[in-house]
Amino acid sequence: MADAAQRLGPLLARREAEGLYRRRPLLESAPGARVVLDGVEYRNFASNDYLGLAAHPEPAAALAGGARSWGAGAGAAHLLGGHAGPHQALEAELAAFVGRERALVFSTGYMANLGVIEALAGRRDTVWEDRLNHASLIDGARLAGARLRRYAHADPADLARRRGDDTALVATDGVFSMDGDLAPLTELAEAAGKSWLMVDDAHGLGVVGPGGRGSVAAAGLGTAEVPVLVGTLGKAFGTFGAFVAGDEALIEAMVNTARTFIYTTALPPAVAEATRASLALIQGEEGERRRAHLDALIRRFRAGAAEAGLALMESPTPIQPLPAGEAETASAWADALGKRGFRVAAVRPPTVPPGTARLRVSLTADHTEAEIDELVAALAATRPAEVPA
Ligand SMILES: *Cc1c(COP(=O)(O)O)cnc(C)c1O
Repeated sequence: MADAAQRLGPLLARREAEGLYRRRPLLESAPGARVVLDGVEYRNFASNDYLGLAAHPEPAAALAGGARSWGAGAGAAHLLGGHAGPHQALEAELAAFVGRERALVFSTGYMANLGVIEALAGRRDTVWEDRLNHASLIDGARLAGARLRRYAHADPADLARRRGDDTALVATDGVFSMDGDLAPLTELAEAAGKSWLMVDDAHGLGVVGPGGRGSVAAAGLGTAEVPVLVGTLGKAFGTFGAFVAGDEALIEAMVNTARTFIYTTALPPAVAEATRASLALIQGEEGERRRAHLDALIRRFRAGAAEAGLALMESPTPIQPLPAGEAETASAWADALGKRGFRVAAVRPPTVPPGTARLRVSLTADHTEAEIDELVAALAATRPAEVPA
């Protein structure tokens, strides 16, 4: 009989010794700029809810109304009777939002990336990816059995120099999830040549670009340059799920071959209704107002941090990382902030390369200017001696 403690104990002990042990804090409030975690109230600078829509009354009311009309679950996969009116309407609205012929809803961004890459690349193909791409893009290439190569972060020249004719697909985050910087999409589209260019804009959609239409729109590009666009709905949209957008043939191919679309239960239709309400907010005047406020907070944070002698990384987005070096240093800094009532994520290996741990400050439209000032003061007061100014 397998004894889990005996088999896995050494692995867990090693993680603990390396300062890499992961624990889940318990959320005891709705998500937002202030949260209660493990019984303590924090100002929350660790969420991806950039527009403050996760607990906004309109998507919540749409979820409740959707549940009354459609029940709690879809009851089946999309191809087997689970594809409901709200999914169909959401897909049409998302396609229009990103300016593509079609969109296809997946259950999560992780699954969308696995399914799309596996459908577009095979064992004889090479997939090139940015060194800092999200884990799900990496895992997609692995699942496809393709040869996975990594080019230097945000370096299209490195890609152009090293890629061969066997390149089926080039994949990149639009906004990098840990660094907050934008991928150089125009140059990547050139370097990708005739291979598929796939952009995962999980952190860009709703937030950056004209009308919040994301990093591809911000670069002035469309389907011709970026034929495969993936968006997730659990970040700025504040709900759950993901989609891939592109032309008719791409989407029909995904419906027919993407295994993570075919062999899984459809999203609850009520969740699709909630996302439709979020999308309406994002495209409306309130979305415009929330993005403008968020932009002002980003500028205020960067100016304040510079004045306080805090080193920042180059990022125009709500993701504002502060370099911390070793994992233990990042953890100690986050713990000290926590004692002052500020929740900031310490990002450590293996999420980022060894020696490049950081604090990942993430700002949302629900924060106030005063809260930004208080955060900057707390960051400066708790900065570990190992972190250079
Ligand atoms: C969060 C994230 C995903 C995964 O999306 P989920 O819907 O949470 O599974 C994929 N790609 C990137 C870049 C992400 O940040």
